[in-house]
Amino acid sequence: MHESSERLQKLPPYLFIEIDRLKREARSKGHDIIDLGVGDPDLNTPEFIIDELNRQARIQINQRYALDQGIPELRQEIARWLKMRFNIEMDSATEILPTIGSKEAIAHFPLAIINEGDLALIPDPCYPPYKSGVLFAGGEFELMPLRAENSFLPDLSKLSEGSLTRAKLLYLNYPNNPTSACATKGFYEDAVRIAKKYNIIICSDLAYSEMTFDGFTPLSIMQINGAKDSAIEFHSLSKTYNMTGWRIGFAYGNKELIRLLSKVKANIDSGVFQAIQYAGIRALREGAATVEKNLAIYKQRRDILVEGLQSLGYELQVPQATFYLWIKVPRPYTSADFCMKLLREAHIVVTPGNGFGPSGEGYFRIALTIDSKRLPQVIERMRKIKL
Ligand SMILES: *Cc1c(COP(=O)(O)O)cnc(C)c1O
Repeated sequence: MHESSERLQKLPPYLFIEIDRLKREARSKGHDIIDLGVGDPDLNTPEFIIDELNRQARIQINQRYALDQGIPELRQEIARWLKMRFNIEMDSATEILPTIGSKEAIAHFPLAIINEGDLALIPDPCYPPYKSGVLFAGGEFELMPLRAENSFLPDLSKLSEGSLTRAKLLYLNYPNNPTSACATKGFYEDAVRIAKKYNIIICSDLAYSEMTFDGFTPLSIMQINGAKDSAIEFHSLSKTYNMTGWRIGFAYGNKELIRLLSKVKANIDSGVFQAIQYAGIRALREGAATVEKNLAIYKQRRDILVEGLQSLGYELQVPQATFYLWIKVPRPYTSADFCMKLLREAHIVVTPGNGFGPSGEGYFRIALTIDSKRLPQVIERMRKIKL
């Protein structure tokens, strides 16, 4: 038997194992499972992006190792897109780095900053790579609870002087997975002020900035005065253009931080397949119409489910962004018990909130990744379960 490293043993327990097992078991018994668990778009990558990949994949130079820092045309297109979208100026040569999706960059970044025993401040609940990246780098983390009464923003004023002095990294993710909450300008300003005062690096995850409803427009942290001194932001084409499998994203911000991330990555991977970089350029340049069409689809799903769930007495906010619903578990169940019950009695898969961290207990997450035709059935099945 081979024993895992201590760093693997330090990872938080994977709470979805039991759900995965029950899901497979129910499927094998022939039950018609409705899976609202996975945060992965069910819509297609637009044809013009696939065509570009086809064309570029045939060009021999693209079949070779990519440049670590990405092709200049992609970095320039990202700079143009950031300027157009958020009115921020990023130097394409020094302040932007293409990444193999944003997950790898988020998970690798701590290797550039964290020493053994260093502290990171991480929201709870959260996207799991924040924790694993910090732990793999030998760091420790302190969880910042996201609570409904504070609009699922961490209460930065509650952080102790000791933690702030010790902390090297502060993770933020708005629009948020899993709570679907959005941040205000004032919140970002507070975060930037604190980061400056205590010399903390802000890692902002903006994966959902394009997935918004009702005319809502999220901010990039780089729009806040002084943010470029202490922040790096991670973005991704995954959710915006239905490209989760393609693995393309980008980081931008403080040029020293970009340089350090680039140095880590140069020692681990060899960049993004160049044909995919060209396809990414087309997505950023011409993807807006597709995004709009997809958002109409997600909005319709959101409205059907929100209305149905509220009519059954479930407690939830109407999300202005992301494709998640964050819903209170009915009494007296725990998140895990309730999710198990939904799977057994209604053959519906949802994600227990505590799978994203202890403060997620008492909630479950639904992903809007199922065709709207099936959603009335979700509500019907949920109506029938005995609470
Ligand atoms: C999906 C997601 C990402 C993007 O992941 P990729 O690696 O770019 O596919 C990043 N952050 C959060 C919070 C996500 O949910």
